[in-house]
Amino acid sequence: MIKQFDRVNILGVPFVRTTLKEMSEQLVTHAELKEKAFVVTANPEIVLHAYENDDYKRSIDKATYVTADGIGVVKGAQLIGEKLPERVTGFDLFMRLLTMANEKGQSIYLLGASKEVLPKTIAQIETQFPHVKITGSHHGFFDWADDAIPNEIRETKPDYVFVALGLPRQENWIAQHMDQFDHGVFMGIGGSFDVLAGEVKRAPMFWQKIHLEWFYRLLKQPSRIGRMMALPRFGIKMLQERKKQR
Ligand code: UDP
Repeated sequence: MIKQFDRVNILGVPFVRTTLKEMSEQLVTHAELKEKAFVVTANPEIVLHAYENDDYKRSIDKATYVTADGIGVVKGAQLIGEKLPERVTGFDLFMRLLTMANEKGQSIYLLGASKEVLPKTIAQIETQFPHVKITGSHHGFFDWADDAIPNEIRETKPDYVFVALGLPRQENWIAQHMDQFDHGVFMGIGGSFDVLAGEVKRAPMFWQKIHLEWFYRLLKQPSRIGRMMALPRFGIKMLQERKKQR
């Protein structure tokens, strides 16, 4: 059965008040009912980009669900007196959906990552989730005017379409094309194909538990500093929101 979730508005983005388990079960149900859903897993960078960019905000507004990708969003909600139970990240949702798709023999389409990485991602899925049917795939460096990818998705009717093009491309691509499809769960998942392929490492559990996964990533890839500035900027914006409330 499809559940109705409460929403928490953070800088104009309506986050669903849900857990990883509940969200993944809901998406599996949508897939089983042959319904269409668009999931945005939004971190502070996505929230700020939507706040500052009208076109991108219009893409986010088309989402069926926006989940809290990262502790920053959970803490941001707390700052304005709201509660989100836990983070529901793109990578964790991706793994859970693959696990359930494997149990149910459901199908997926993979769009994104480089030409070199994508085959490694596919090899990992074939090994770890042998009952998942891959109806097709395409790397993430393609001509948007070419209809080959949406045509393939329309024809092969996958249950899930994972779009790993990074922000803002993945949400814009889904928002622009979703009207063409009858059903399917569409989800933007950032660098998750690289992580599954073993090209990029996720922070060890210790770093995740102390909520410093972002810091670990910064240490590993110092060039991310520019993008990481979204975190303090987001924090400042949320403090301003709290002030407004008082
Ligand atoms: N990417 C892509 N097409 C592009 C730009 C990026 O497929 O035009 C891929 C890139 O190879 C990577 C993913 O998008 O696999 C997202 O990378 P990023 O590090 O930006 O992800 P995030 O930090 O948002 O998880």
